[in-house]
Amino acid sequence: MSQSVELDARPSTDFTDSSLFEGTVVRKSTGQYWVASEAGGALTVCSLTNLLRKQLVYPIADPTSWRPHVLAVKEIRSVDPVAIGDRVRFLPAGPGSGQIQEVLPRRSKLSRRAAGAQPLEQVIVANADQVVVVFAAAQPAVRWNLVDRYLVSTEACNLPALLCFTKLDLVKEADFRAELEPYRLTGYRTLLTSSTQQVGIEELRQALRGKLSALVGPSGVGKTTLLNVLEPGLGQRVREISKITGKGRHTTSSLEMFSLSSGGFLVDSPGMREYGLWNVNPNELASLFPEMRPYLGGCRFGASCRHNKEPGCAVKKAMEEGAIHPRRYQSWLRLVDLLRKG
Ligand code: ZN
Repeated sequence: MSQSVELDARPSTDFTDSSLFEGTVVRKSTGQYWVASEAGGALTVCSLTNLLRKQLVYPIADPTSWRPHVLAVKEIRSVDPVAIGDRVRFLPAGPGSGQIQEVLPRRSKLSRRAAGAQPLEQVIVANADQVVVVFAAAQPAVRWNLVDRYLVSTEACNLPALLCFTKLDLVKEADFRAELEPYRLTGYRTLLTSSTQQVGIEELRQALRGKLSALVGPSGVGKTTLLNVLEPGLGQRVREISKITGKGRHTTSSLEMFSLSSGGFLVDSPGMREYGLWNVNPNELASLFPEMRPYLGGCRFGASCRHNKEPGCAVKKAMEEGAIHPRRYQSWLRLVDLLRKG
């Protein structure tokens, strides 16, 4: 009785055609995707079936989005439905070329809000295992609010973060470690490196081994130098890609996944002027600060507490007792404000 209903509900692309190959998207540039097949060999340069673009683009206005009605079909079309790291099935279309027919379910995704006035999701990396947030210990001075913004973005994507600092040789290590106290309280892993003094490099190599890592952080923090020390020439290769992608309006339409000889894969996200948060609701922001989580719900005014001037606030009490660092609390307040202003 219900059999025909089930059959009708199957999407038309959900066929198990043996002529389709499976692979991972390792590079992309406007409209083209380089796919590494299971079998190895040369990469297949693929286009995308229009059907897939439509099918995958519509659900961006997903039920978990806090303002799904703002999205219009026209704008949605500019979002790329395929990201670096995606597992795809493609139809061979001649020597070295093919067409992506299907994107397999993602294990994880690191998203940000795409540049522009419209709220659009941009998936930087699919199926990543961790996010490495790179900042310089000095020159430029650390913008802790920005560090927290990146951390919030990784929390929103449910990905573990590694906080990596470069240029350790420019600061007094003991003083700088004291600056990292808020993150020790939070449980974030931190890694201090110096490219000139070869400090922390082996530790970073170990942290990347066997994983797909997404690199995020502002430009000018010595990332290229760090990657060159990690692996000769890697920094230049990454920089070349970023240069190409840095031009014009569609600044991040091309990306690449780099394989490390010591094991693991890296995807760099070219620095943008502002790292837009995706799917982060100001009312839920506190839950994206892991050290605040245990106290949410403990406030006298419950869920309506804004953890600011309300009496009986469990979050503020935890801060006064030293379980939440004041700098992180201030950072949270500032970010809530920014998000409320939209
Ligand atoms: Zn409160």
